[in-house]
Amino acid sequence: MIKYDLKCDLSHTFEGWFSNSNDYENQVFNGLVTCPICGNDKVERAIVAPSIKKSSLKISLNKNNTPNFIESELKTKLRTLNKEIEKQTTDVGEHFADEARMIYKGEKKGKAIRGTATKKEEKKLKEEGVPYIKVPWIKDN
Ligand SMILES: [Zn+2]
Repeated sequence: MIKYDLKCDLSHTFEGWFSNSNDYENQVFNGLVTCPICGNDKVERAIVAPSIKKSSLKISLNKNNTPNFIESELKTKLRTLNKEIEKQTTDVGEHFADEARMIYKGEKKGKAIRGTATKKEEKKLKEEGVPYIKVPWIKDN
């Protein structure tokens, strides 16, 4: 008797015992092997990926530097966005939260500003309904 890992059309996996590979082929051909989960008789041997496959995939990913490539592309795009924001806004630095609040309340002439805010300031701005967006800032190196 030999044991095969089988898979149906719907990717259910199960085990089947056969006297030999011919027996397996005959039974499948005649629709005698059915999926115990859904009753599907379209079954085939499941390809069991040995764990070594996974690690070789990892290596090939590293070889092509795929994650690094994506990261550098993302950085370039963010840098472009940062430059665009720099062009269109006034830097108020650490005073961002105060400035944004004053502009929002009409205490100061409306203008586009950029700057930094602490987590606490961010939370307050959100609570007060002051609109702002957070943009990841790429430092030139
Ligand atoms: Zn099934």
